Amino acid sequence: MAKRKRLKLKEPFISIVRILGVILAIILAVFLFYRYEIHTIKKLGYSEKASQFILFNFKKSYVKSVHYSDTLNAAFESESYNEKYLKYYAQIDYYKGDLLISDINSLLEKKYSVSEINVILAHGSLEDVRDFAKRDKVVYLDEYFDYPFARIRLYDRYLAYSDETGENAYNTIVYVNLDIDKEEYNEPYLINKFSIDMLVNKHFSLTKNFVPNNLVTISSEDSKNEEIKLNGEAYKAFKQMKSDMNKEGLDIYINEGYRSYSEQEELCDYYRNLYGDNYVSKYVALPGFSEHQTGLAIDISSTSVKTFANSKEFRWMIDNSYKYGFILRYDSMFIEETQYNSEPWHYRYVGTEISNYIHEHYMSYEEYYAVNLFK
Ligand SMILES: [Zn+2]
Repeated sequence: MAKRKRLKLKEPFISIVRILGVILAIILAVFLFYRYEIHTIKKLGYSEKASQFILFNFKKSYVKSVHYSDTLNAAFESESYNEKYLKYYAQIDYYKGDLLISDINSLLEKKYSVSEINVILAHGSLEDVRDFAKRDKVVYLDEYFDYPFARIRLYDRYLAYSDETGENAYNTIVYVNLDIDKEEYNEPYLINKFSIDMLVNKHFSLTKNFVPNNLVTISSEDSKNEEIKLNGEAYKAFKQMKSDMNKEGLDIYINEGYRSYSEQEELCDYYRNLYGDNYVSKYVALPGFSEHQTGLAIDISSTSVKTFANSKEFRWMIDNSYKYGFILRYDSMFIEETQYNSEPWHYRYVGTEISNYIHEHYMSYEEYYAVNLFK
């Protein structure tokens, strides 16, 4: 009969298990400690990636002292992180969700101060900042960039324009933002998206295919011409304005509303045949450059007098049209900005928020645009 063999573990084997157990316990403890440390850093606001960087590069006490900064987070996440600029990152404003640390490094390299860098970042797109970071250091940054609507990509043109004309910084920025330092009709901004606040002039042009939203045909009681179209919102405001004007015994009607690109082309051809090129370039907007293509502009007449500028209706329009969202678009005071001679009959619908502002501040639509809407 065979003896039952007792299974007995040998001593060395037990030792190995024990050692493995201890090692596993250590690994677990280290891991738990690591997760705890990451957790405490993440609680400050840092991302997982940034937290790992902070932990492994012994920056924990530093980030605790400065708390959280989006820019610092981006720097820790970035391959462009540069240790010598660490103390600056946290003081630099985070920039539109897509900050590039390499561009900030370039600006710091050029010895821009933190506040100058914040100014640069606030006055341009990501591409503008990148281009600016490549150029030699600019000395007089504050003169123009105290104004939030100045753009760093236009810096050289601001300098050139103010040198040439002696204009102050405000006017310089307004004119250059509007491309008034360039030739009329030359390399215009191209627009093909409709909005009530769109700007169309000799530097901001509509594409051939642009057609305004919500075109409606105006009724015969509002016009002596047939088939005039207008943006629906502008027409509604016009009807209210006309109705209130009627209550005071005055009346207006619309001579011109929406004009398509091809109609503008025909108009130019017509005047060209009649009076020649010079006349056209001086008095007729080239196709794409007429505000009538927006469907937001009207030419009006009064029923009482032939010359609208002499009518009571014109006076009434000057005093009241802004209440309905309309502005006198080509005012004799603003020829330099609009680049159009005075047109007492031409009004533009911009909505009441803008028309009230323009009425209160008495400025051209160009200036309003350059200061408030320019990108
Ligand atoms: Zn007009």
